Amino acid sequence: MQQSYLIKPVLDIEYPTIDYGKGVYLYDKNNKDYIDGSSGAVTASVGHGVTEVINAMTEQANKVSFVYRSQFTSEAAEGLAKKLSEITPGDLNWSFFVNSGSEATETAMKVAIQHWQEQGIYSKTKVLSRWMSYHGITLGALSMSGHVARRERFVALLDDLPSASAPYCYRCPFGQTHPRCQLLCAKELERAIKRIGKDSIAAFIAEPIIGAAAGAVVPPEGYYAEIKAICERNNILFIADEVMTGMGRTGKMLAIEHWGVQPDIVALGKGMSGGYTPIAAALVSDKVMEPILQGSKMIMSGHTFSANPQSAAASLAVLNYIEKHHLVDRSEKIGNYLRKELIEVANRTSIIGDVRGKGLMLGIEFVENKNTKQSFAPQVKIANRVIKKAMENGLLVYPANAGDEGITGDAILVAPPLVITKEEIDELIFRFKKSIEEVEKDLLHDGQS
Ligand code: PMP
Repeated sequence: MQQSYLIKPVLDIEYPTIDYGKGVYLYDKNNKDYIDGSSGAVTASVGHGVTEVINAMTEQANKVSFVYRSQFTSEAAEGLAKKLSEITPGDLNWSFFVNSGSEATETAMKVAIQHWQEQGIYSKTKVLSRWMSYHGITLGALSMSGHVARRERFVALLDDLPSASAPYCYRCPFGQTHPRCQLLCAKELERAIKRIGKDSIAAFIAEPIIGAAAGAVVPPEGYYAEIKAICERNNILFIADEVMTGMGRTGKMLAIEHWGVQPDIVALGKGMSGGYTPIAAALVSDKVMEPILQGSKMIMSGHTFSANPQSAAASLAVLNYIEKHHLVDRSEKIGNYLRKELIEVANRTSIIGDVRGKGLMLGIEFVENKNTKQSFAPQVKIANRVIKKAMENGLLVYPANAGDEGITGDAILVAPPLVITKEEIDELIFRFKKSIEEVEKDLLHDGQS
């Protein structure tokens, strides 16, 4: 192995060195091509090497790349904030820019707490969340994350905020089926609020479609209406973590729009800049901002790189590109085709139990037995096997597993750039099917199946 001084995710494996990308394809230094079937970490929303975005970034860099937010504003940051207010539903009219999804959810948390403080209410400081969720890696965001594997090492430093089960119908935490369940998973939030005390709760945060912790888990109909009603009844704000689902990924600009529910605060990241630059945001409603505008007139948070014009220009160019090429509608339509093709693959294999998701955020859960939904033993590392095999076959897919054995299944996300064509999907499916067949063969060979 070549000497490297870079701390990579796993230190004893060799990663290919990337050379360049174009559209949905990436090319490594050995000129091997990969279909970016997961948009990296569900990020490269408009694909790689988009000229319009590169030009906007170059133009901004030629003017000025960095100014500090307490000294200047910029046309790029103002333009991006205006655009976000226009393309998102309801009164989500205010943007606070940060650099990562973790910072976005933590900012959302802080704004929610401050919203109550500005009204003289100092006891509402907790932001409840669900198990089987991921809201980020920094300590505040991790405190809200129901992701056992990522919490484990740091539990002593974390708040215990996950308080309700996930709306995971494939393996219902209550052993029920919808609609007979009467949405017990949503009602569990109200029980948690009673137990913890609504006077100590500022907000509830949820990913509208669960991403990294479970693989595109879509809640049952009526779930978010019930959640919103519970929040309103208890004077608790509702934060939608749209870091993964936002900006057209699921066939709506925000995934929560699938259920017509209005969040009070939204966290954005990933696809907001398509990966061209690190930028993320907390979008705040007029309702939440009002007491802050009347009170201290500032939000007690921020980072050196917040609202830097370089990142704002890149993100604005990405959002303009999404709009110009109707990529939100496209995500829904082409996503339906991809989903249909993935179901075909699933029907022909014994190891895929569920294909789910919306638009171009699709999840695949692996099982040892389709009828009983029995998962593979953890040591089989089934999702990792598929990811590795797909990589060998020139296809990127993304792991999704909260690490709580026996509760979450082992899943992957398939979420290519929103620009993917039908022909490119056919090639993606060809590589995926081949990878699944090879994994099945290996399992037989290893006596695991
Ligand atoms: N929220 C959600 C829903 C996410 O999927 C992620 C990243 N996977 C984050 C927050 C954290 O974002 P980042 O990695 O940019 O800090």
